[in-house]
Amino acid sequence: MVRGIVPRQPAKTGRHEGVRVERSLKTSHKTAGLRPDRPGQRLGPTQVGKKKKSTSITKYNPLAPERIAEILKRLDQLYPDVTCALSHKNAWELLVATILSAQSTDVNVNRATPELFRKYPTVADFAALTPEQLEPDVRSTGFFRNKSKSVVGAAKKVASEFGGQVPDDMDKLLTLPGVARKTANVVLGTWFLKAEGVVVDTHVTRISRRLELTKNTDAPKIEQDLMQAIPHEKWILFAHQIIWHGRKLCIARRPKCVDCALENICHAEDKTWSTVEMHKNAKL
Ligand code: SF4
Repeated sequence: MVRGIVPRQPAKTGRHEGVRVERSLKTSHKTAGLRPDRPGQRLGPTQVGKKKKSTSITKYNPLAPERIAEILKRLDQLYPDVTCALSHKNAWELLVATILSAQSTDVNVNRATPELFRKYPTVADFAALTPEQLEPDVRSTGFFRNKSKSVVGAAKKVASEFGGQVPDDMDKLLTLPGVARKTANVVLGTWFLKAEGVVVDTHVTRISRRLELTKNTDAPKIEQDLMQAIPHEKWILFAHQIIWHGRKLCIARRPKCVDCALENICHAEDKTWSTVEMHKNAKL
């Protein structure tokens, strides 16, 4: 190959000659506990096979503190000030928006909620409804019958048992209809700034597995793994950052690895561009 020419198309094998990592975000693979030993090192088919048997492979630990720190550092550089993308003015609006966001997109929910909260400004307004009355207002977010039941049920409980105030407590939040740990973590972390867990949605699930922060597939176990791997003070921001990363680059199908600052420390099997070996256990 002519020196200086970087091919644009990644090899299907995941091995490639080019490196497209931002210079400012480059780091030593040695300090990050990663392979190959130098950025851009080409791994031939036989080398990959040999590497799997080498001592360095057996020592590779995707949860090594220095690797986790490097991931967090790069996420901080990429997404320094991100927060929840759901529009809201108070804890109740955030709770409703999060319930409505299930199986939908934040953009879709943000289209529906301004009119919804104009029509029903308070918890009491929602509590006075029947689920059937709310259905037309949330229809566009999908699964509207279940969501209507959850929102009206949550409003009745917040009004009758919590004095009209959304509780800032995990156990109490989990008693509300339609509220599981993901929704509770969104409300606690984003509105109350309380880190009682890590938000695990579809983006966090996918990217945590790609980055080998978990091997699990169900949300409660993934959350436990992330609570072990990620320092407590980063739980809230980490989830926001990963969700933004999942929207912008690390999308479900054909992630934009060539533009990803985490590329040379990511070994996901479904990468579309790779300068490092890819792992089967990092598969979506
Ligand atoms: S390199 Fe690709 S798979 Fe890995 S985190 Fe970046 S976009 Fe996702």
